[in-house]
Amino acid sequence: MSEPSIFTRIRNGEIPSEILAETENAFAIRDIAPQAPVHLLVIPKTEEYRNVVELAAGDPELMAELVGLANTLAAEHGDGDFRLVFNTGPNAGQTVFHVHAHVLAGGLEEKSVG
Ligand code: 5GP
Repeated sequence: MSEPSIFTRIRNGEIPSEILAETENAFAIRDIAPQAPVHLLVIPKTEEYRNVVELAAGDPELMAELVGLANTLAAEHGDGDFRLVFNTGPNAGQTVFHVHAHVLAGGLEEKSVG
């Protein structure tokens, strides 16, 4: 069996980071290197899915649970608006292969895409 991911180690209390919120199958922490005034990570408790493509195909309900938790946190930590980012693959900046959503909020007006 492979080593637990950094996020599992945080959840187990081996690496310090406050668990901001928890649902049945997911939890949330602050990103250690924030890229926005609010930068949280929403993470499934299971390590089964390496990226969002695997998660969406394998467990759409868990995907919806992550989105719902992101929405709740964006309201608690900001004005409710947020950007949800799933880096997918190393060339897109993914460094932790335990799927997670970046929840970015606050002061994003100038960086809007589209
Ligand atoms: P990725 O690059 O895989 O999309 O995102 C991984 C994220 O995890 C990065 O934004 C990085 O800053 C964050 N991260 C890495 N190690 C730690 C840690 O020990 N604690 C916390 N809170 N975040 C971490």
